[in-house]
Amino acid sequence: MKNKQKIPKEDVYEASKNPRTNTLYGQIDKTVTIIGLGGGGEIALHLARSGVRRLNLIDFDTLEVGNLVRHACGSKYIGQNKAEAVRDLLVEHNPVCKGSILAYNWDIFKHREEFQSIVSTSDAVIIATDTDSSRLFINDVCVETNTPAVFVTMFPKGVGGQIFSYLPWAACYGCFAHHEGRQGFIQKYVDTLEKIDCASDRDVRSMPGLGIDQSFLAAIAARKTLDILLLDQEHLLPSLGNENRIVWSTSGIPRVISKPLTSASEDVPKHEECYSCGNSQKIQTNL
Ligand SMILES: [Zn+2]
Repeated sequence: MKNKQKIPKEDVYEASKNPRTNTLYGQIDKTVTIIGLGGGGEIALHLARSGVRRLNLIDFDTLEVGNLVRHACGSKYIGQNKAEAVRDLLVEHNPVCKGSILAYNWDIFKHREEFQSIVSTSDAVIIATDTDSSRLFINDVCVETNTPAVFVTMFPKGVGGQIFSYLPWAACYGCFAHHEGRQGFIQKYVDTLEKIDCASDRDVRSMPGLGIDQSFLAAIAARKTLDILLLDQEHLLPSLGNENRIVWSTSGIPRVISKPLTSASEDVPKHEECYSCGNSQKIQTNL
């Protein structure tokens, strides 16, 4: 019979020593907020295992049977809010987490003040939502509060995806949208008072890939977030590079990267006239 002896809490803690980040479990004394706990669930698991001490998890959605093929949580969590389910999973994974992982089961568009307050006390924000308007809205809040952010997007059919990271002195997600030639959508977003209603054609086109496709992106996003969190402290973790955009090809991206299992990085420049971080008039986010 296998040894099923319960491991004392302090031993779990000691066994979690992480030589790469030079920390014990929970000793990266930082707070990360993750919005979107579908794919974001895997990112949360990576960060907790890497030693990030505090996590805020935000998602209004409920875990359904159809989500299981791509979700960190199993069938016992069906019907539970996704943020709360991931919190419970992490605590189950390591009880040391208890009390330092907070779940919020509301819509960020409907709790703007509370959301801004959470972002302003975070060291990094991860955006794993699946709508363009939520990405721009969260970007605006991060720009206003000078909070680093990591945006994760999967390309249609899961052929690959991209990770864009924002640091307060560099290009924001709005600059990136300009860079991609998406002025039409930006204008539509700026003109829409309630940002929640501003759908993009990309939302419709997005087709989820396999859980495996998602895992590649979750791993890169978590790793990039660690780079940002460790910027101001001594550590042994090699950086993924200074570029703010990483494109990852899992199975070949038509007209972008034909080769599978390949990445490309670029440094997206700051757009001087950016609607969000530029010198022109600031957008009203109704905060
Ligand atoms: Zn910008």
